[in-house]
Amino acid sequence: GRHKAKGGRSGFHYQGLAFDQESLHIFAGLCAVDNPKHVEEMLRALQANGLNCTRMGAYKPRTNPYAFQGHGKDCLPWVFDLAGKYGIKVIAMEVTHESHMQEIDQALVDAGRPCGVIMQIGTRNTQNFELLKAIGKQNDYPALLKRGFGITLNESLNAAEYLASEGNSQVIFCLRGMKSEFGAPHRNMVDFAQVPTVKRLTRMPVCIDPSHSVGSRDVAPDGVLELCHATAQGVLAGANMVLVDFHPAPTKALVDGPQALTLNELEPFLKDMEIARKAY
Ligand code: PEP
Repeated sequence: GRHKAKGGRSGFHYQGLAFDQESLHIFAGLCAVDNPKHVEEMLRALQANGLNCTRMGAYKPRTNPYAFQGHGKDCLPWVFDLAGKYGIKVIAMEVTHESHMQEIDQALVDAGRPCGVIMQIGTRNTQNFELLKAIGKQNDYPALLKRGFGITLNESLNAAEYLASEGNSQVIFCLRGMKSEFGAPHRNMVDFAQVPTVKRLTRMPVCIDPSHSVGSRDVAPDGVLELCHATAQGVLAGANMVLVDFHPAPTKALVDGPQALTLNELEPFLKDMEIARKAY
């Protein structure tokens, strides 16, 4: 039997949206901002499907120093303008240094605050304690903390505590898979069975990132992408947020193209999520 938590178990409101342990928000978008055309096509598709949140990577933490590092602050003016044009309320955007938070803040002011931003801390920075303290010290922007891909769940939850203990009361925890050959051929070992665990142990809304967990567009024998199966499993387990990579032309994506869903796949993806959510 299921004994659902009553109410939202704390959580917070941001940009008029409730983020708590009962809400569900889909943050579909680009892994990495590449050009205005692709961002606009992406945002237009989101609006057409009734979505008002997205993910957009401007600062990319890359394994290889010669790989595309993201456009950084240069793209923020036009990304925020386009977000306003398409009614986007919240963008999840990774920051790898505290100065990025200031750059985002300044760009939002300059653009007339057309949208809000959730400061995403990537899995490579889960235990970057100085970054955590800097983002924790302010409460204007919520934080989305990815679990560390090579540390225990408890260690990642302690990292989230750094944000909270410094004063940020708007923290979302994101499961994104664990580095392990045992999960191969998936890029990471999918860990969405821990959605209810994190909800039990903390008061944070729990996000899942099926794209960085599964990391491919491989199709299961039933014709459904394994990435979509994993998403449904996470939503069925009670996920409160889904961070998922889409791209208008995945083969042209500068980062993580092989795991990006196409814009045509957005509508069926959302339908699947709706079914999984109803079953929750
Ligand atoms: C991302 O979401 O763009 C990303 C780099 O994810 P992770 O930190 O989980 O690898």
